[in-house]
Amino acid sequence: MQPKKSFAMINYEICNPLICNPSEGVCAAALVCSHKVIKQLDGVFQSPIIFQDMCMGCWDCIEACQLDAIRNFSTNT
Ligand code: SF4
Ligand code: SF4
Repeated sequence: MQPKKSFAMINYEICNPLICNPSEGVCAAALVCSHKVIKQLDGVFQSPIIFQDMCMGCWDCIEACQLDAIRNFSTNT
């Protein structure tokens, strides 16, 4: 059996940097990810993406996102 892989996922129906940080548009979850695998590739005021293959499953981003837009996800593949 493959080892279980856990990673963070963003719900883009909820995620909105215009709401969570209307003054600067910076994603708080990206700031706290010590592994630097969540990034606003398109710039501030744009939703971030998570490089799930490199996510360490620490869930710091989940705690940091005040809109509750990030969830943990597990897979066996
Ligand atoms: S993931 Fe959370 S903190 Fe980051 S931009 Fe989306 S809503 Fe804001
Ligand atoms: S779970 Fe941890 S490593 Fe993965 S994106 Fe969130 S803060 Fe980064």
